[in-house]
Amino acid sequence: MSVLEDLAMAVGPKHVLAGEAAKDDYHHDESLTVPAVCPLAVVLPGSTEELSGVLAAASRHRVAVTARGSGTGMSGACTPVDGGIVVSFERMSRIIEIDQANHVAVVQAGVQLDQLDSALAPLGLMYPVYPGEYSASLGGNVATNAGGMRAVRYGVTRHQVVGIRCGGKVAKLSSGYDLTQLIAGSEGTLALVTLAYLRLYPRPAFNATLLAPFSTLEAVAAAVPTVVGSGIGPSILEYVDMLTMAAMTAHSGIDLGVADEIRSTALAYLVVGLEARSETRLEEDAEAMAELLAKAGAMEVYVLPPGSAVQLIEAREKAFWVAKANGADDVLDVVVPRAAIPAFMAAVAEVASSTGSLLPGCGHAGDGNVHLAVFQPDPETRHEVERRVFEAGLTLGGAISGEHGIGRAKRDLFLELEDPAKVELMRRLKAAFDPLGILNPGVTL
Ligand SMILES: Cc1cc2nc3c(=O)[nH]c(=O)nc-3n(C[C@H](O)[C@H](O)[C@H](O)COP(=O)(O)OP(=O)(O)OC[C@H]3O[C@@H](n4cnc5c(N)ncnc54)[C@H](O)[C@@H]3O)c2cc1C
Repeated sequence: MSVLEDLAMAVGPKHVLAGEAAKDDYHHDESLTVPAVCPLAVVLPGSTEELSGVLAAASRHRVAVTARGSGTGMSGACTPVDGGIVVSFERMSRIIEIDQANHVAVVQAGVQLDQLDSALAPLGLMYPVYPGEYSASLGGNVATNAGGMRAVRYGVTRHQVVGIRCGGKVAKLSSGYDLTQLIAGSEGTLALVTLAYLRLYPRPAFNATLLAPFSTLEAVAAAVPTVVGSGIGPSILEYVDMLTMAAMTAHSGIDLGVADEIRSTALAYLVVGLEARSETRLEEDAEAMAELLAKAGAMEVYVLPPGSAVQLIEAREKAFWVAKANGADDVLDVVVPRAAIPAFMAAVAEVASSTGSLLPGCGHAGDGNVHLAVFQPDPETRHEVERRVFEAGLTLGGAISGEHGIGRAKRDLFLELEDPAKVELMRRLKAAFDPLGILNPGVTL
């Protein structure tokens, strides 16, 4: 029996898309550097049982399997292998249960963030991980350990996933190795996620967004630990440099009401989101935060009207598209301890000037996660730029990626720069989970 026939036995012939039917969208994600690849077939299982059949067929034929959620990843991690299959979770997109007593949602891997949010909002609940692209799937979020703007308050995906097949609705667990956490962030290289148990939170009733321009990038970065340490607990703490802010506001046409003389001299901005259960509490927090930002050197502090606040957050979430439209050659998301952001940014400025590259950025400053757009068209110089930027992050106690993952895009530099002992242990874990080496080969390792 051919592979395609075997797969068709598992899911039914109309759920195996080959040739023209395996449309271009399945060939790539949003990485700017990883080339698209047409797979042998795209397979659409409708249940865990069907997925088991698909994996059994792939094992028999030794065919590479690349899981795919919504294809919004930034590191080429769901780009298929030539001759391999893509397993798309679009038919497994049911919210199985919203358990309000235990504050847990049970969802199939193909459920999208916006779909879950629409189901939770009427119940006054939220799932607090908001990476910038809400069409992303929960399976993809688990596999990349997605972060986003609210991680400064709520943590990233792994802090909200209480179970997959292992784990469950329990609030804590100390029963052997935590396999759920091993799968989180494993980019489809160890296992395929069919179901996730997600922690839910009450939806905050009141929100405010403050915008603070600073005269230097270093001053913004230096203010971050003070804001985090204030006890006010911001839900969003983003920095945006001057070039990125200009591009974002021009692209989305927002007027943030920043005075001309400040706009022309500010080199970077801090965006602080606050949330509270009562209006009075929110006002007190906003006032205290504004004072703190002014003391930390802000040129001015604006409490944005709700309309512009929403537009600014949306524009920040879409900053990637603006960078792409302006011709960025790559996007990086190095993470460093947050107090090391100034040192990291100084190293980045040195790399940019010594290589003739432009490295503007913005990022989840509260988490030390710096997103840089790389404008350097020459591939060799760009490789050098990225190696030096990654080295700078690692030297400061950080990591190559804070949330986008290693994928195919950063694999070579990951293997070159990471601790070899850690990489070897990862290889042994990979072999234990995937002895045939068919799960997303070439990703991460
Ligand atoms: C405009 C924009 C803004 C973004 N902002 C952020 C941000 O702020 N923070 C952030 O973290 N990310 C961000 N991202 C990146 C992206 O949205 C996340 O990486 C997201 O988690 C990917 O989900 P997906 O469903 O699209 O996964 P895909 O891209 O389809 O896949 C990503 C990885 O997950 C694996 N995978 C998918 N489903 C499964 C499964 N069921 N089982 C096992 N493995 C699976 C794939 O094999 C691949 O390795 C942004 C992307 C865009 C386009």
